[in-house]
Amino acid sequence: MFSLAEKSLYVADLDLWIDSMRPRSRCYVSHGHADHARAHDVVVTSTNNARVCRKRFGMAATYRQPRLLPKPRPETVFEEHDFNEPWSLGEHRLTLFSAGHVLGSAQLLIEGARGRFVYTGDFKLEPSYTAEPAEVKPCDTVLMECTYGRPHYVFPPRAEVAAEMVAWARSALEDGAVPIFYAYSLGKAQEALAILGAAGLPLTVHGAIHSLASVYTEAGVALPPYEHYDADAFDGTRIVVWPPSGRVLPKAVRGRSARTATLTGWALDKNMKFRYGTDTAFPLSDHADFPSLLRYIELAQPKKVLLNHGWRDFVARLRRLGIDAEYLEANAQLALF
Ligand SMILES: [Zn+2]
Repeated sequence: MFSLAEKSLYVADLDLWIDSMRPRSRCYVSHGHADHARAHDVVVTSTNNARVCRKRFGMAATYRQPRLLPKPRPETVFEEHDFNEPWSLGEHRLTLFSAGHVLGSAQLLIEGARGRFVYTGDFKLEPSYTAEPAEVKPCDTVLMECTYGRPHYVFPPRAEVAAEMVAWARSALEDGAVPIFYAYSLGKAQEALAILGAAGLPLTVHGAIHSLASVYTEAGVALPPYEHYDADAFDGTRIVVWPPSGRVLPKAVRGRSARTATLTGWALDKNMKFRYGTDTAFPLSDHADFPSLLRYIELAQPKKVLLNHGWRDFVARLRRLGIDAEYLEANAQLALF
């Protein structure tokens, strides 16, 4: 039996919470973003996400971003599993495999007498420059996100977006303006570093991004050179990569000519740049777009699709395609296996 109680997923057969926002005795954490990762007594997760979470839980004390960072809880015990190294829990077999969303992001496969269940967490099928490539496994039931579950969300190829980002930044620098990319500290910022650094552009990054980039490097992801932002040393000739909180200009940039950009899949919405208050926006996403959501279902061939984190009308779209789909409601009790 599996349920959604107190807005948290819970697998009663395994006595295991999934991506719970409240502290639990034992919780599976799919990846390190703040809307999934909280400190619990025991965090069950991938090896690389354990690295990310250790860093993030420690960083909360350093950077005052309570909305964006989990509260520190040094006593958390990490139960780490490598991708595709199954383990047993009671009558069930559990396996983590890559979700392709950010470093260490995992999907959870639970196999038992009643079949195969997959929880995707946030995922992206298209390859990125810094996250492990995603996998899709056949299953009977999938619980998936559908953040971009409307047909107009079709992301351009990543190389195309990358080329546009490079051209925009280069032109700003040539004009004597400071280009600033606002990007989530985990995942999106490291993608930006990889893209801009590969073009040989000089980079300065916020401390939170710097800390998490060091986790990527420890995990074996090659990143180009970048500088830790230092307000006193900054001379205005480098690209700045900054967390999106508040859209505040870094101190050393104030009073200089600056151009600002947001990195998000929502850039495909026409009014997006006005909504985010930046000069421009690039559709660099770490989620699956609409065609990828459908492709996932095609590859996994589930008998039942459960949805969370996204557009509810995606359910109707799937049903019209003959797929048995349902949006996961609060307090639902579902026998999945
Ligand atoms: Zn995420």
